[in-house]
Amino acid sequence: PRVLCWLRRDLRLHDHAALHHALKSGLPVACVFIFDSTILDSLPADDVRLAFIHDSLLQVQEQLRQYGSELITAHGDPVQKIPELANRLNAKAVYANEDYEPAAMARDQTVSHTLSGQGMELKLFKDQVIFARDEILTQQRQPYTVFTPYKRNWLARIQSEDAQAYDCSQGEWAALPEQALPDLEELGFQEKSRAKLLSPAGWQGAQTLLEQFEPRIHAYHERRDFPAKRGVSYLAPHLRFGTLSIRQAVSLAWPSDSNGAATWLSELIWREFYQQFLWHHPETATESFKPAYKDLPFPNREDWFQVWKDGQTGYPIVDAAMRQLNQSGYMHNRLRMISASFLVKDLLIDWRWGEQYFAQKLLDYDMASNVGGWQWAASTGCDAQPYFRIFNPITQSRKFDPDGQFIRRYVPELASLDKQAIHAPWQAKQLPIEFRSGKDYPAPIVDHDTQRHLALALFKQAGEQE
Ligand code: FAD
Repeated sequence: PRVLCWLRRDLRLHDHAALHHALKSGLPVACVFIFDSTILDSLPADDVRLAFIHDSLLQVQEQLRQYGSELITAHGDPVQKIPELANRLNAKAVYANEDYEPAAMARDQTVSHTLSGQGMELKLFKDQVIFARDEILTQQRQPYTVFTPYKRNWLARIQSEDAQAYDCSQGEWAALPEQALPDLEELGFQEKSRAKLLSPAGWQGAQTLLEQFEPRIHAYHERRDFPAKRGVSYLAPHLRFGTLSIRQAVSLAWPSDSNGAATWLSELIWREFYQQFLWHHPETATESFKPAYKDLPFPNREDWFQVWKDGQTGYPIVDAAMRQLNQSGYMHNRLRMISASFLVKDLLIDWRWGEQYFAQKLLDYDMASNVGGWQWAASTGCDAQPYFRIFNPITQSRKFDPDGQFIRRYVPELASLDKQAIHAPWQAKQLPIEFRSGKDYPAPIVDHDTQRHLALALFKQAGEQE
């Protein structure tokens, strides 16, 4: 007999809670991964996330071979595949790490039920966060809806054991025959999408990025808002797919010895704040949290939505942001805030449309953080931006991309404009003669001040009706 370690959003073999416990079981451990058809079937063939997962699994496979074992994979619905594999591999139990997304929890419940019918157990462990579910509550034992007190409590609660790595070096690996990973084409995805990965995947990619970020962390608080600078860590996909453990990430910044490290740690706490919030309020994945804003009467113009998606709004910073997302699967945090705010407050489009678009495109897409970020920008969520605080895309652009360096990178039509003109070409006193405003680059799709007033009225009216 053996035990299985079912890898999901934890594609590494070190500092891994479920693997640590599986190795301690006394039985040989076999690692399995299911290419989940219930998720993959709805993704486009050039989805870059599959390339990331595939590269990460190749690294896992290589490591397992060094241990004399093998990565077992299957393609299908895990609800059937896991019990089948557990039978075939003569497993006593299946070990996995908890996942707090509503669909994942439902899946795990079904798998657990089927396995117990076969006399086997699904054992789940906390791994992807330091504090999960209801581990951090207010004094009244209620979930937090405001970040700052949640963070204060999180920082007061964390002990060194919480950030300690799980030892995965002791125990026995199952000796298994070699099995090739299905390639991307066999799974219905394009091999060429691999080239779109901006930085290396897998646990090795995570270690490289972490090492590169370490000397920069102390300047994080000063540089993180400028998309043209290398100020942030770019680790989000690694935290999403678990090619980096949260304990290792937290250990880089805690205990914090600089403002930069403390600010970065705060971001990791935001991640946990949104995860616990979604766990307590799964309905907020598709509904505004604030009751007054559940049915905001957005005009939802489809043509404007398309223009936003294509990065053709005529607002250079918004267009650069959307093109970065479309080309790379990444968008800088400051730009996520600007482009989300623009969609909701300037184009008057429901935040859920934008949330869905980001969900399709982001390599680091994570339901809790994405919904949290969108509801923050739309003023509909917990601890959100107040509705009357509306980003001015031109002011934001001047402040956070002062030289227009980032805009020039993604909107080459504007490369010849100077740093005064580039943020709002239609307002410029002087433009290069060869640049034809409205032809080489679109005229602004809306007037910000007009839309701002419409947005204010829409929110105000909804609030008053409550
Ligand atoms: P860093 O600045 O280096 O931050 C370190 C880590 O902290 C990140 O990797 C991430 O795990 C976490 N983090 C940082 N900021 C936030 C935040 N505001 N909320 C939650 N966690 C955070 N993040 C996602 O991981 N997935 C998403 O789908 C996602 N969607 C977003 C949508 C909107 C509209 C907004 C405003 C933000 C969204 N974020 C999301 C949060 C944030 O933009 C990204 O985590 C960040 O840009 C990733 O880049 P980084 O790894 O270099 O971050």
